[in-house]
Amino acid sequence: MLEVRGLCKHFGGIRAVDQCSFTVERGSITALIGPNGAGKTTAFNCISKTLRPTSGEVWLKGERIDAMRPHQVTRRGLSRTFQISRNLEDLTVLENLVVQSRVPNWRALFGPAIAPWEREKAMEILDFLNITRLAHEETRSLSYGQKKLMDFGALLMSDPEMILLDEPAGGVNPRLLEEIVDRIRALNARGLTVLIVEHNMDLVMRLSHKVVVMAHGQVIAEGTPEEVQADPLVLEAYLGGAQKEPAVQAVGAVVHG
Ligand code: ATP
Repeated sequence: MLEVRGLCKHFGGIRAVDQCSFTVERGSITALIGPNGAGKTTAFNCISKTLRPTSGEVWLKGERIDAMRPHQVTRRGLSRTFQISRNLEDLTVLENLVVQSRVPNWRALFGPAIAPWEREKAMEILDFLNITRLAHEETRSLSYGQKKLMDFGALLMSDPEMILLDEPAGGVNPRLLEEIVDRIRALNARGLTVLIVEHNMDLVMRLSHKVVVMAHGQVIAEGTPEEVQADPLVLEAYLGGAQKEPAVQAVGAVVHG
């Protein structure tokens, strides 16, 4: 579904992503993990075209997408969420779903505020996420976790074939987290391919078919959750580079059973 080949992103002298290569198989849930500063978010941004890579290639369904504009990538079936919600606080949840899914163009200025088909589609998605009751709530009144669910909903408005989720578990309470996990699994069961950046190791190991581990901008390990947990390079990357991170303890716990 997705192939990243020799991806590089440099900020001045910093090689945030440095010759990074990995693949995401169609229909899989793949996690991108690594200690703080490993380059995960930068790689993510290059894939979704929020950032322009310094060099390297990104292929989606056999088509090269690294020179495309973000909306062209979305049209080809790839959508993403952001670590920090980018919603419009004054709008309702329903309105946010519709507005965020639109590619801005002059026609939108003259169209109806919300077309009937948009309303219907947004309501179907809210129903799927079990948050129909929030449809007409102002976004500012939602909890952090509910906003994440809403962002997830906005993502689905473009009928993606593949989604990139940036820390979906970050700051979410455990009950809501289980709901998010459950919905990701349900979407994956329908054929959606998922790439996820996440620090919650328990979640990563439970959810993923494949885990790609980054450190210092490069991929240092790749395999099933069991394989990467048994890889000494992975533990060393966490312990060597970031001893104070909570994720270190989590990886350690997982690695040592
Ligand atoms: P975290 O888990 O903490 O979010 P990460 O693995 O996502 O980390 P990145 O945020 O991609 O890592 O950062 C990789 C490196 O690139 C870090 O050294 C970071 O300081 C640097 N970096 C990221 N964005 C920029 C930028 N816009 N300008 C300069 N340096 C940057």
